[in-house]
Amino acid sequence: METLQPKFVDVIPEKLEDGIIYISMNRSIALHLCVCGCQNEVVTPFSPTDWELRFDGSSISLYPSIGNWEFPCKSHYWVTRNVIKYSNTWNKKQIQAGRDQDKRNKAIYSNHKVVNMAILKPVIVKKSRLLKLCNQLLSLLKIKI
Ligand SMILES: [Zn+2]
Repeated sequence: METLQPKFVDVIPEKLEDGIIYISMNRSIALHLCVCGCQNEVVTPFSPTDWELRFDGSSISLYPSIGNWEFPCKSHYWVTRNVIKYSNTWNKKQIQAGRDQDKRNKAIYSNHKVVNMAILKPVIVKKSRLLKLCNQLLSLLKIKI
């Protein structure tokens, strides 16, 4: 297989066709059959720590590469503007290093989310206090809005 054609769908069909990547934007996920022909389903969720989908209006690119290490074929490829570019197979050490990096990325990202929420919360509180104060001032002035 040399290309994957994107098909934007609301619901992923039960039976996938070779050479098509089914993309569900509302579920932030894409599925396709492994490009080596082994018929295994490859699931690529979109998130800041999983895959990134680029759509230029006619073709798609996925970042980073897809490494099917759980499948017997262990295929590894990039999808750039619908074109499949096969990459080298990783050894066990490389696969483990990749998985460790994924874990670190996810941990860093989830920590960031906590930090962001911690920053946002006082701002919201302040805003509501300000609003309350404004309402109090307005009521003192007997102005209704
Ligand atoms: Zn395969």
